[in-house]
Amino acid sequence: MVYRQTPIGLLLEYHNLYRLLDTFDKAQLLVGMCMDNRKHLHIPDNFAFIIRSGGANLRYSEFKVSYAIGVGQVSHIALIGHNNCGMVNLISRKEEFIDGLVMTAGWDKERAEEHFMHFAPMFEIGNETDFILSETKRLRLRYPKILIAPLIYLVDDNQLYFINED
Ligand SMILES: [Zn+2]
Repeated sequence: MVYRQTPIGLLLEYHNLYRLLDTFDKAQLLVGMCMDNRKHLHIPDNFAFIIRSGGANLRYSEFKVSYAIGVGQVSHIALIGHNNCGMVNLISRKEEFIDGLVMTAGWDKERAEEHFMHFAPMFEIGNETDFILSETKRLRLRYPKILIAPLIYLVDDNQLYFINED
């Protein structure tokens, strides 16, 4: 297993196996994960930079990825998708999204609809595992010396799993 003895292997030991939390004075890796409220990681303080965005989509967070690498000096990324992600099939929640903005934020309906139609295609991920695999490939090309692992978080058992790349 290529990730053994790396910060990515450690991440799984802390989170899945409740390995005793070590002390760190600098970040060991970057974690990209969804904003979804059902998930949290069991990891030590100072262990990771974390970028949370819908679907663990880092396409619009590139400067922050570069910052974690360039300034934070991490050379590992754990990209963590999860099952039952809200960024899959966004169109099915179009009415809910629009009505919610109108009711809760005080937007007018037309503006809320425009907002949805403009951004939903950018943030739709299609399928959780396929998206994480394609995002992993994209990031490996962009940052060739960084070790990047595609992972999935199951909200049913709160465990992390490697996504098989074969
Ligand atoms: Zn999600």
